[in-house]
Amino acid sequence: MSLKPIHDMGVAELAAAIADKKTSSVEAAQHLLARARQHEHLGVYLALNEDLSLAQAKAADARVAAGERTPLLGVPLAHKDIFVTRGFPTTAGSKMLAGYQSPFDATVVSQLAAAGAVTLGKLNCDEFAMGSGNDNSAFSAAHNPWDVSRVPGGSSGGSAAAVAARLVPAATGTDTGGSIRQPAAFCGITGIKPTYGRCSRYGMVAFASSLDQAGPMARSAADCAALLTAMAGPDIDRDSTSLDHPAEDYSAALTRSREGATAAQPLKGLRIGLPAEFFGAGCAPDVLAAVRSALSEYEQLGATLVDISLPRTELSIPVYYVIAPAEASSNLSRFDGVKFGHRARQYDDLIDMYKKTRSEAFGPEVQRRIMIGTYVLSHGYYDAYYLQAQKIRRLIAQDFQQAFTQCDVIAGPVAPSVAWTIGEKSADPMANYLADIYTLSTSLAGLPGMSVPAGFGAANMPVGLQLVGNYFKEGELLHTAHAFQQATDWHLKTPQGY
Ligand code: GLN
Repeated sequence: MSLKPIHDMGVAELAAAIADKKTSSVEAAQHLLARARQHEHLGVYLALNEDLSLAQAKAADARVAAGERTPLLGVPLAHKDIFVTRGFPTTAGSKMLAGYQSPFDATVVSQLAAAGAVTLGKLNCDEFAMGSGNDNSAFSAAHNPWDVSRVPGGSSGGSAAAVAARLVPAATGTDTGGSIRQPAAFCGITGIKPTYGRCSRYGMVAFASSLDQAGPMARSAADCAALLTAMAGPDIDRDSTSLDHPAEDYSAALTRSREGATAAQPLKGLRIGLPAEFFGAGCAPDVLAAVRSALSEYEQLGATLVDISLPRTELSIPVYYVIAPAEASSNLSRFDGVKFGHRARQYDDLIDMYKKTRSEAFGPEVQRRIMIGTYVLSHGYYDAYYLQAQKIRRLIAQDFQQAFTQCDVIAGPVAPSVAWTIGEKSADPMANYLADIYTLSTSLAGLPGMSVPAGFGAANMPVGLQLVGNYFKEGELLHTAHAFQQATDWHLKTPQGY
């Protein structure tokens, strides 16, 4: 028998316990499935398939019995319901795809499965990944285990809440404008959005194709590294924006020592840039206090803090909310009642069928974005909005390159406040959009970014520290987060009752 409850083990611990035969993958899956049922009130799972999960666990146990010992073998994970999966329905949080069964697995899903991970279920998210609180899910709200009256963040809210509530040791998420980092921050877990193109988008239901990126969410940077090692890598035959750049061993990067580092100062020589625009009046004082104390811990670890500027931060909101809806309006045109998903029952003719199908099955936020996107792409407005936004997007990316001449990693808050209460921002799309201020620019630039638990703010809710690196610097980000997690225990805190 294992020494501690299975749900208290992280990925590495659980993999070791399975490999050492202190427990089995089947036992772990059964335990976590029972826990999923016990905590149904959190609204995190949209689908389970116990028979399939247990069959996968049995297969993993057979690999263990045959002597295999690999970092994810037998470990149960769950996927954001935006990744298509065989054997589980895939809805993207939308009525449009209710009950949809994919005939194939997303690349990220099949890569994790090949590494021996077991799929436990599909996790709630905002409809087509549009949102910041999981309250745009067509099925149910997801709740933050730190305070069930609050949102877990979004759009990967189910993933963050499931990991924080110890329902699963790690989960996949996607980040188009912050959807891995912000829910990770709101739920006190660790998440990384890799460089755009680092993980395949094949089989990820598309929201905004030039921004969408998959990534892992787990308790620690070390566990994120184990997942990312399996998820990353080229998939150029199936995803034309997949980068033809070999996958790395991110777990090895965790402990790779820096030049000049000492045991007491593992980050000696690391220059952390603090953008003035991330530390202004727009950020709640409780969040800033937690972020600043995390930064002094970084100084203790040997890092130096450098003042930098990302002058176009404010513009990232209008730019993102032109480009993302434009791409969404194009991507979502495939949901026409013919090829996929819902079709209205009664209609007069083809046009009426399109109208009724799309009005019935898309929620209000998705409809809003389709209208904005169609508008900014229309003749006469394309130059004024879409083209302008693309130009500013390029300038935002250049600002980051300028900043990286002065520092190695950029740090700041993930979000301007802790998690808000469910319903508080539901009626006000602008309030949601504004809360994305610190995550959008990284996505527009295609850079890797992560969220690291950094303490607690108002109402004792978790606060995340954001770390942003240059292209392909996932290893450096994970190393930087890991050093912090070796010295602090914010990432080990568990919400009461879980
Ligand atoms: N909150 C942002 C939006 O609503 C980001 C979503 C995401 O990253 N998927 O678009």
